[in-house]
Amino acid sequence: MATASIITIGDELLIGQTIDTNSAWMAQQLNKIGVWVKRRVAVGDVWDEIWTALDEESNHSQIILITGGLGPTADDITKPLLCDYFGGKMIVSDAALQNVKDIFTKLNRPIIERNLKQAEVPDVCTVLNNRRGTAPGMWFNKDGKIYVSMPGVPNEMKGIMLDYVLPQLPALFNLPIVYHQTLLTAGQGESFLAEMIKDFEEALPGYIKLAYLPNYGMVRLRLTGRGADKVAIAKEVNEKFLILKLLVKEYMVTDTDEPMELIIGKILRDHNKTMGTAESCTGGAIASLITSIPGSSNYFKGSIVSYANDVKENLLLVSADTLKTTGAVSEETVTQMVKGAINNLGVDYAVATSGILGPGGGTPEKPVGMVWVAVGNKEKTVTQKFQWRFDRQRNTDLTVQNALNMLRKFILLEQ
Ligand code: AMP
Ligand code: MG
Repeated sequence: MATASIITIGDELLIGQTIDTNSAWMAQQLNKIGVWVKRRVAVGDVWDEIWTALDEESNHSQIILITGGLGPTADDITKPLLCDYFGGKMIVSDAALQNVKDIFTKLNRPIIERNLKQAEVPDVCTVLNNRRGTAPGMWFNKDGKIYVSMPGVPNEMKGIMLDYVLPQLPALFNLPIVYHQTLLTAGQGESFLAEMIKDFEEALPGYIKLAYLPNYGMVRLRLTGRGADKVAIAKEVNEKFLILKLLVKEYMVTDTDEPMELIIGKILRDHNKTMGTAESCTGGAIASLITSIPGSSNYFKGSIVSYANDVKENLLLVSADTLKTTGAVSEETVTQMVKGAINNLGVDYAVATSGILGPGGGTPEKPVGMVWVAVGNKEKTVTQKFQWRFDRQRNTDLTVQNALNMLRKFILLEQ
């Protein structure tokens, strides 16, 4: 199996100022085409550290992908280092120079000497054009291994990966076909599911693996088959997937690898219905997720972020009496919030949230993490109380995902 190491370079990565999203993305892409990512290493902009990382990773992998340190400033030293490492000398690449000039012409900005330096490359590399920036990618071959250096800017790295690296690897290595099928379950933990499908899992052949991917109190089950024959592996994984779907039928949310906001969007679109939200503790997070889907204007009308009680009262017509007697975090309040949203936003379905997400603000009767969620239409409302036990962000995410799942179930049952 072809093996890869990823080396990300930059002081900012080591102190956590920049989160290393490059290696996660690259690893996902490599995994998809059947390359086994063996190791990921982050090093600072330090000559000896980068050199050692190159030596070390060439002992482990056939493909070494490197990002970072290609900027025009003094702190970026990857390029001269690679030139020394592979025993070359710096020359100006005509293609890279043209790219720099084109970019500056488009921007209508004068080029300074420092920018022109971006077109210099070691004469022992193949230049990979960077259509999104001035630093070219560089491809080196040494002792049967491949080294590719790319800029640290995620968007530029992705362009070079998609244009050159990912298309070329299958021709250079005998990569297996990797075929996935994923389904999402809700309502049961992974241990329970594992028990439920134990026999199925044990009977899987070695080249088909089952992964449990828990998140937000839901569990994704992914079947991954690896083989040489695309049609055969897809057929076999699909057959197993059908069986798996039947086994977990009562907990299955969807049999596609799609986020909840997309699933809801599709259902609403299919039924030609609209929705809105009345959000207290989630502060608009549900609306934000729903509107992250292009085309959501077809089914999403709006949100009333009613954080304060007087907004719940004035804009959602929650009764002052309810707020006084049962409080804002209560079944009665979220039920009335749903009604208020349906009437005032003019939507078919609404979802409402009210809770205490922490870290402070809890009482013995209403501890931190207690959240009421309601979903409904004109005729009916369904409510549920959750008791989360994490930090504020995670409690919010859990509320959002579970509220969306409640809405999904509600709409499907009503149809
Ligand atoms: P460089 O190529 O080192 O000049 O990096 C340019 C920019 O890309 C900097 O703003 C970095 O913070 C960002 N960057 C570098 N490496 C990574 C990485 N591994 N993941 C995400 N962003 C990065
Ligand atoms: Mg840098």
